[in-house]
Amino acid sequence: MKKLHINTIGCQMNVYDSERIASSVQPLGYRLTDSPDQADMIIVNTCAIREKAVQKVFSYLGRIAGLKQARPDLILAVGGCVAQQEGEKILKRAPYVDLVFGTHAIGRLPLLIDKIERKRNRLVDIEMGSRIDEPEERVAAQGKSEVSRFVTIMQGSDNFCTYCVVPYVRGRESSRQPEKIITEIEGLVQNGVREVTLLGQNVNSYGKKEGLLDFTQLIEKINDINGLERIRFTTSHPKDLSDELIAAFGRLGKLCHHIHLPVQSGSDRILKKMNRNYTRDQYLDRINRLREACPDIAITSDIIVGFPGETGDDFVATADLIETVGFDGLFAFKYSDRPNAPATRFVHKVNEDDQNRRLQKVLELQENITTGRNRALVEQTVEVLVESHRLKPGKPAGGSTPDGEAANTASAGQWTGRTSTNKIVHMPANAVITGRAGAIEKGSLILVTIKKALAHSLWGVPAESGARNVSGSKGESSHAA
Ligand code: SAM
Repeated sequence: MKKLHINTIGCQMNVYDSERIASSVQPLGYRLTDSPDQADMIIVNTCAIREKAVQKVFSYLGRIAGLKQARPDLILAVGGCVAQQEGEKILKRAPYVDLVFGTHAIGRLPLLIDKIERKRNRLVDIEMGSRIDEPEERVAAQGKSEVSRFVTIMQGSDNFCTYCVVPYVRGRESSRQPEKIITEIEGLVQNGVREVTLLGQNVNSYGKKEGLLDFTQLIEKINDINGLERIRFTTSHPKDLSDELIAAFGRLGKLCHHIHLPVQSGSDRILKKMNRNYTRDQYLDRINRLREACPDIAITSDIIVGFPGETGDDFVATADLIETVGFDGLFAFKYSDRPNAPATRFVHKVNEDDQNRRLQKVLELQENITTGRNRALVEQTVEVLVESHRLKPGKPAGGSTPDGEAANTASAGQWTGRTSTNKIVHMPANAVITGRAGAIEKGSLILVTIKKALAHSLWGVPAESGARNVSGSKGESSHAA
């Protein structure tokens, strides 16, 4: 048996692709290892979305170059978006790399690896097809039976936001057949999975181009899968958020009460330059409609600060939008030039000091909002899907676990799960929960009373009425956000 180590850099799509990579080379005898030192092959699955992610790739390659020197038979491969973008240049810059394979080459990976094993030549495959590289094998990589898994439903993007590299490294938008998606999810559920997150650059336009089911219809079908408890998705483009999808949040029992809806800027001038195709008011209108359909829905977003030409006033508009919406969470990024993206050629670039100041301001603003939202959950009872157990819990910032249970928690560890609204909840797995800890396992859906709000997570204890394991129930028993 040969060992494969995969280092995944970047988004959830790369996590999914890494699982596909692991499955696809299984017939060649490769099994996963966490240790690069033990590996016969190391694959770096890369991200090109921001300059920083690309730097990370080359610094990792530099770190593992020594392994190849010590063991020349070790195969080093670079896949994903940087591979697609840089192609052969990677072989020149990192002469110890054996294989560069692009985002559409995962299906061809077994052939490429086989060639390298037999002939030891260095290969590049960055050919892109116009149709989706549909995974033939069901992605249930190597007996993993985690509670929550990603499922890619489409690839590429047709949006051409002016800052974005995705259309150039992932290709044009293309959706998978609904039957293949359903079969894959059914297989995952048989393996113990209770929650899926559907992935795409713009899931709201799923199926439109090919005349398949639309996204809401696809969710309806997935909602009917027995044994599946929760459905999440990411990412949504505000311009394509349909009334049907908004209504689905109030209607479909398994659809989690959370949407990630990247706004990028609060200034109409900048939104136009970004080619986002919506205005600030249109975005705010969609937020209102989401909250009308589903009052406890959690809304998270992405912000880019320092886009070319962003003035102080534009930034004030963004800060104002953040406060107006009161997001549950936010990812904020400093704009960076990307190869081929039109904004790279835009003038009036914002200097790094201003970018840093604006980023800091956004992070501070959001931290206050998130803390306030988390505090509002204290003493509320929420439904949590238990995802993992740790024997050695990290101490929550600012003190012990709720009700001073640090000692017990230290002995029995902690459970961690998420609310439907995607908030992380830790719970002590100890006798204080009057012997009920035994009833909790990975995949349990339980009611938890929140006792403490932290900056990035919550602490709670299973509620008295939560003694029953509510798995198998449709929808939410209780929510508060
Ligand atoms: N497809 C989604 C969209 O366009 O809304 C998200 C894709 S991307 C993986 C995640 C986030 O990275 C984007 O929403 C954006 O905020 C950020 N991003 C993309 N390109 C960027 C760039 N050139 N500089 C800084 N941030 C960028």
